[in-house]
Amino acid sequence: MSLQHLISHVADLASDAVFLTKPHSQSPENAPIIWTNRAATDLCGYTCDELAGTPMHRLLARHDTHSIDTGSLEHHENGTPFQGVLHFTGKNDVSFWADTRTERIMIGDNGAAYWAWFCRPTATANQELADAKLAAELAQQRLWDAIEALPQGFVMFDRDDTLVVFNNKFVEFYAASAPAIKKGATFEQIMRYGLENGQYPEAAGREEAWLAERLDRSSRQKRPVDRALPGGRHILIHDVETPNGDLVGLRADVTEFRQQQIALEKQAAALKQAKRKAESAWQVAEIAKDEALEAAEAKERFLANMSHEIRTPMNGILGMAELLRDTKLDADQTIFANTIFNSARSLLTVINDILEFSKLRAEKITLRTEAFSLRSLIEDVLTLLQSQAHNHGLTTWIDYPDDVATTYVGDASRLRQILLNLVGNAIKFAPNGQVGLRVRQVGGETPLHIAVIDTGPGIPAEKQASIFAAFEQVDNTSTRAVEGTGLGLAISRALARQMGGDIELESALGKGSTFTVRLGLETAQEPQAPPPVFSSAASIEDQADLSGTRLLMAEDNKTNQLVVQKMLGK
Ligand code: ADP
Repeated sequence: MSLQHLISHVADLASDAVFLTKPHSQSPENAPIIWTNRAATDLCGYTCDELAGTPMHRLLARHDTHSIDTGSLEHHENGTPFQGVLHFTGKNDVSFWADTRTERIMIGDNGAAYWAWFCRPTATANQELADAKLAAELAQQRLWDAIEALPQGFVMFDRDDTLVVFNNKFVEFYAASAPAIKKGATFEQIMRYGLENGQYPEAAGREEAWLAERLDRSSRQKRPVDRALPGGRHILIHDVETPNGDLVGLRADVTEFRQQQIALEKQAAALKQAKRKAESAWQVAEIAKDEALEAAEAKERFLANMSHEIRTPMNGILGMAELLRDTKLDADQTIFANTIFNSARSLLTVINDILEFSKLRAEKITLRTEAFSLRSLIEDVLTLLQSQAHNHGLTTWIDYPDDVATTYVGDASRLRQILLNLVGNAIKFAPNGQVGLRVRQVGGETPLHIAVIDTGPGIPAEKQASIFAAFEQVDNTSTRAVEGTGLGLAISRALARQMGGDIELESALGKGSTFTVRLGLETAQEPQAPPPVFSSAASIEDQADLSGTRLLMAEDNKTNQLVVQKMLGK
């Protein structure tokens, strides 16, 4: 055995790892290894041949964040030995820390310096390294578990668009591409596989253009995009680039949300259509309403004109009949003249009612506001109808307590019209018994209550609402015993309502009826003289002596001229 072999054998028995490097002009760690002992090959896992020629720095984990600053090795250049703990990386990335000492060996006169590295693994440092590795592995596992637990698909491509990591959910979304989704595959490979296997229905017919768009990285990391998947599913894609150039992506299943959105859009469209239909139906109804209103107005106008036209000759008939009654007539002629007079008067009442009603409907009646004595008005009404009541065998009464004011402000003639109609009806329909007027001042918005009470036949419950409508009567037959137009109550209620009040009815069959006029008239301080009650030619004749008075009378109707002339000549 040569001495060299012997020395080598001895060196293999040493427990420290020894690396011998060639002289190097720059720094010793760049110097290639020329010899190692067995402890050195055991430590770093490489064979002698693998190590031969390898620069020493390949074994040093210079860039490892845990490594010590190896810059201090630079003082080798000065030939100063180094002593310290260094971080090494051996075969298969096995790391270890070693207590290291370097020695410069000068051989020959040319000054070439060999370096010997003596390395002894440090147990504590290596334990720390193992612990750190384990902690890193655990942290990695936790992170991985978290990614796997995400309800979204997760994927990460590196800066070269190579697949680095993904979770199962991601593969679930791209089931048709699943065989291509594996670590190390490029984005393009995965996309192409997906295209060939029907993963992207949206690309149909323009596959290459579509792929080019998708491969453009800048377009992949914009705002979230909604994409359709086979089977009617929808996912929301959101890709973001990390600072070191990786592309991290999330895929969320938005199928349900999308379906709801579609349903809502459909509902909105249906609503829009329904609205359009309703609008056109409304327009049609509006046109129909306008037409109906126009027709009703035309009818009212016609009625009013007709009534007005009939009234003039009717006044002539009445006047003439009255004059005729004052002439010398035999018994038969008196009956005829009276019949003409009475019929004409009834007809005039009907026509006046119609005219009044159409005026009310056209809202052409204006109410007067004047102070009047309600007490006198009530008395007048009963006085006027007294004889009629008497003829029917009815007794009349008035209940007007002292605590009710006497003077009110309103339209006295219209109120009289209402009461005359109600009392007139009471007398007309009551075969016997009593008819009375009761006045009360109570609370509320319409405190003045004037009730017309009779002990007549009463009105059936089912008719109590309808009799207030125009032309409605309890007995609608043409053979009814009592005459009337069926307009009186309609006119009365319309007038009461125009005064801000109303008319209410309480009635029981066989027991009589109570029509209560409710009004909100204000009371006045000073009692006013009641307006004239009656203005017929007879009352004027009674009140004034016109003999010798010259009079100018303007009347275009020949009959009326004659009537007035005769009246005045009396
Ligand atoms: P008219 O008296 O001209 O028929 P009204 O509108 O005044 O019209 O009355 C409508 C109907 O109400 C009457 O026809 C009658 O059937 C019923 N009516 C009104 N007042 C009374 C009453 N006091 N008693 C019984 N029925 C009445």
